[in-house]
Amino acid sequence: MPIVDAHIHLFPPEVVNQRERFLALDRHFADLYTNPKCRLATAEDALASLDRNGIDFAFALGFGWSDPTLCRMHNDYLIEVQRQYPERFASFAALQPCDSQAALTEINRVAAAGLKGIGELMPHGQGYALDDWTVMDPVAEAATALGLAISIHVSEPVGHGYPGKGAVTPATAYRLAERHPSLRLIFAHWGGGLPFYELMPEVAIALRNVWYDSAATTYLYHFEIFKIVAELVSADRILFGTDYPLLRQGPFLQKVRALGLPESTLEQILGGNAVRFINADGTWQAHLGFSSE
Ligand SMILES: [Zn+2]
Repeated sequence: MPIVDAHIHLFPPEVVNQRERFLALDRHFADLYTNPKCRLATAEDALASLDRNGIDFAFALGFGWSDPTLCRMHNDYLIEVQRQYPERFASFAALQPCDSQAALTEINRVAAAGLKGIGELMPHGQGYALDDWTVMDPVAEAATALGLAISIHVSEPVGHGYPGKGAVTPATAYRLAERHPSLRLIFAHWGGGLPFYELMPEVAIALRNVWYDSAATTYLYHFEIFKIVAELVSADRILFGTDYPLLRQGPFLQKVRALGLPESTLEQILGGNAVRFINADGTWQAHLGFSSE
């Protein structure tokens, strides 16, 4: 079974090479990347890391820029990356939902280019609330109609602060899923703790189209969270994701493998679920050197 990192961020070379210029253009980008230790990666950087760590494939996420022009520039690159390496990357589009007309035009453009997802949306950094329906309904409806999934940054309402934590709570994320039951959603960072509430039957029903990724676990939780969430919501809705290049893929993967999970559970989490997710409509099969079964 392939290994898939379902949460990495790629940036165009011009952003990586001219970081200072983009720090001045976007406040949220500055919040996260002013510190030169916060790495930025191009597709080639990521390919080297995938190869080094025995990872077959990755979901290449964009960034939550506030200016739709920057989203388009980023998407030009992400479309090109997916075109060039469809056997290694599935790109998710950067999107600013606040300007509905521009957002819908961009959603149609990226869908026509073959992208399967949008995100990682960062409402806290982009200036809207995830449950502001005038902003989110048009985007959610278009994504549902076009078969695009949406990845959303969700964070813990308790615990330590960190750059980019934001205030997208499990409750807000829940309201979006409840309102758009046919939309396929990835709630990043374990949905900020939302899996616990799936012990409530009506919550589990409302979240049946939600997957949780493990991005940045190292900074947030004990790794036992993999076992616990597998028990809470079942292993088939957990996506292994690192948040590379924020975190290094090798040590992260090592920590998951060291948990002693049953082999079949590990296979689902490390790649099986992600392959089924991206190939849900069968259109990715041609690109995969591995079977989705
Ligand atoms: Zn995030």
